[in-house]
Amino acid sequence: MAKLGNRTGARLLLTAVALALALSGFALPAEASGEPDVLTALVVRVVAPPNPVLAADNKIHLAYELQVVNQSPVLITIDSIKVLDPTSGAVLQDLGSAGVAKISRFPGGTGATLPPSHSGYVFMDATLPAGAAVPKEIAHRFEATRQLPRSPEDTHHGVPVTAESGVEPTEAFTGVATPIGPPAVILSPPLKGARWAVGSGCCVITAHRGATLSIDGSVHVAERFAIDFVQLDKEMRLFVGPADQLKSYAFFGAEVLSAADGTVVTVVDGRPEQIPGAFAKGATLNTAGGNNIVVDIGGGRFAFYAHLQPGSIRVKPGDKVTTGQILALLGNTGNSDGPHLHFHVMDGPSPLKSNGLPYAFTKFTGQGLVTDEAPALKGETAQIDSTYLTGPHFNQIPLDFQIISFE
Ligand SMILES: [Zn+2]
Repeated sequence: MAKLGNRTGARLLLTAVALALALSGFALPAEASGEPDVLTALVVRVVAPPNPVLAADNKIHLAYELQVVNQSPVLITIDSIKVLDPTSGAVLQDLGSAGVAKISRFPGGTGATLPPSHSGYVFMDATLPAGAAVPKEIAHRFEATRQLPRSPEDTHHGVPVTAESGVEPTEAFTGVATPIGPPAVILSPPLKGARWAVGSGCCVITAHRGATLSIDGSVHVAERFAIDFVQLDKEMRLFVGPADQLKSYAFFGAEVLSAADGTVVTVVDGRPEQIPGAFAKGATLNTAGGNNIVVDIGGGRFAFYAHLQPGSIRVKPGDKVTTGQILALLGNTGNSDGPHLHFHVMDGPSPLKSNGLPYAFTKFTGQGLVTDEAPALKGETAQIDSTYLTGPHFNQIPLDFQIISFE
């Protein structure tokens, strides 16, 4: 160990002898099964076990996040991530570095590269055909390239590994196994009517899924499968009239329905409507949901209805609610820049200090896809692909920017 640490040219690595050992390609004895264990610069953890959900594209989605830490003093570029069924050896998803970069958020890094001592998230979305057997667990195969920092002052840019550094130029390993959780719960629609646009929906990086919130030191992705529902009018407009007036939004005050039978856990009321068009300043963990309702729907699942109109909530904690029951009216309270219903399902009663679970709706009809929301945000007709996933859908979750009818 000392010898490796004292190698000339490895000056940058001297502060971390153990890591220098790791990066020199030192291999631990082979396990009985499979390839030798390797010491890696990358530390990877699954934030929460994935739960399968059938989506409107008729594929089973496993949407989950990998928390990735580069605990070494060198730069790491993830060249490949493969999602494996360790039993059959099947590859569920195969991402190259461009694919990894597209679904990653590496603050301070670029593309699929993490500078020394940086971390980030990869927002995975492995899919299987409808009807396929979902594996009991999955594992991951990683391949990565190491680079030395350009200088002690510029650790964000890399140069190729030199022979004198003693650092192996690449690392590859299989691990990071996770069990697969139970499948999505089937729910009734929380709204009535046609042309509901699915804002920040599954399964890409959105404001919802990207909210990897560290609360009391633990990461939670409560909004993983959240949807912001807004309704377009027959001319596919979001509002008619001044953008900053609640009455310009025809769906403001739409009835919000209980998506399942359950017991009301918490009710927050009395928070004022916001002015549409901009987010109110000073939102906190506690005020973000505005007026909201949490309902225990059984099986360790909780439904969350947020941004409701003040004074419109018709239930109180302890009430039993039934599917389709009117809970409240759609509003614009809390961390909201326009009237909408924020809906999600989580694994605990706290709307944000929990993990998001998938759900599917018993029935909806696809009416297209919003391909450009910019005109809609100006009160003009939204740009729509009216051919996207049209027709009836059963027991599926709608996808991001899909337009659906609950009629
Ligand atoms: Zn939302």
